Amino acid sequence: MKGATTQRTTAKAMAIPNPLERVKIRRDVKVQTHRFVDFFKGFDEVDTVRRIFGNQTKKILDELRVEFMSRRGYMGVSDQDGHIIVSADYLKNGNLRDIYLDLIHELVHVRQFKEGHQLFDQRYGYTERPTEIEAHRYAVEEARNLGMSDEEIFQYLKTEWINDEDHLRLAETLNVKPSNQE
Ligand SMILES: [Zn+2]
Repeated sequence: MKGATTQRTTAKAMAIPNPLERVKIRRDVKVQTHRFVDFFKGFDEVDTVRRIFGNQTKKILDELRVEFMSRRGYMGVSDQDGHIIVSADYLKNGNLRDIYLDLIHELVHVRQFKEGHQLFDQRYGYTERPTEIEAHRYAVEEARNLGMSDEEIFQYLKTEWINDEDHLRLAETLNVKPSNQE
């Protein structure tokens, strides 16, 4: 019985060549990135951005790269080299104000990455992670500069990946007080 099984396996292996020996896969590919300033202009003149990067603002934005991804989603920062990743779909169809505030948020992560912070520290949940809190603080401050009400900012802070409880806790941490919460 044992011998028969071995024989069958061998015959099968001979009949079907291992596909991994027949295909060729180039694996050392380069991720396509673009200059941030070719797509996002005037950010070096924004006070909040200047506070994020200080006197390095222009230099950092000039060197910053952006990758456009076809996957749906929003945006983020690569924890490999600190470039910004933006969903092309979101950029095209998202709310302009949200996109602007998200960019402010991600620029904070760009600075954090340069400072050597671990962006996705799994010891913390999303709403407690110090890097996220700091990024949100800048975005909320800029939202206030835009004249957004606490209610509007509260809505902006709501995303699919946080539940109602975390949403409330995040708003509280950021001192965002929608009228029905007071
Ligand atoms: Zn973030």
